[in-house]
Amino acid sequence: MDEFVKNHQKIVFETTANALEKNGFKAILVNSREEAASKILEIAKDCSTVGIAGTHTVRALDVLPKLEQAGKKMFDHWKLKPGTPEELECRKNQTQVDLFLVSANAVTMDGEIVNRDGCGNRINAMTFGPPKVVIVIGKNKITADLESAFSRIEEIAAPIRAMSLNRKTPCVKTGYCMDCDSPERICRITSIMHKRPMMTDITVIIIPEDLGY
Ligand code: SF4
Repeated sequence: MDEFVKNHQKIVFETTANALEKNGFKAILVNSREEAASKILEIAKDCSTVGIAGTHTVRALDVLPKLEQAGKKMFDHWKLKPGTPEELECRKNQTQVDLFLVSANAVTMDGEIVNRDGCGNRINAMTFGPPKVVIVIGKNKITADLESAFSRIEEIAAPIRAMSLNRKTPCVKTGYCMDCDSPERICRITSIMHKRPMMTDITVIIIPEDLGY
């Protein structure tokens, strides 16, 4: 990697991690997906149940089979047929687990965590319920401030998510948010964690590559 790119990345990561710590979160900088997976296994050591949000980032670490092998009871609604009572039950159970694994739409260099949901199960479970939450992000999720966090959601995360869900929303054609009134709109709830929620132990793991969207 170019030395200047490397230096820039180091400043961005360290600033973000320090700001997160200042806001009451734990922040861990790792060098690889493998190291991120090891940290998760370590954090999960005393946990019996693990919930997984709808996240490509966490699944890319290949840590879920390892947690299962370690005897954890997993609550992963992506393994169930969407819209079924079982899938709904699984989403509800994710708010009761010992450890919830999730990514974020954006993490600012001021140490704030920003998410926009359709159902709200992810935002619910990551703010209250599970005593431990691990948020895994690739470098692409870091933004300078809240304004750029919302731009990231509206120009990248939400339109791509709408495409992946085959939604009939304007953003799947324009590539950016049109603040639609579509019945299929996926953007219905926005959460900003300014500081760590009082009853939740939250660790943010930052990986130096682009992961998820
Ligand atoms: S509000 Fe509508 S147009 Fe905007 S990103 Fe969400 S689904 Fe797409």
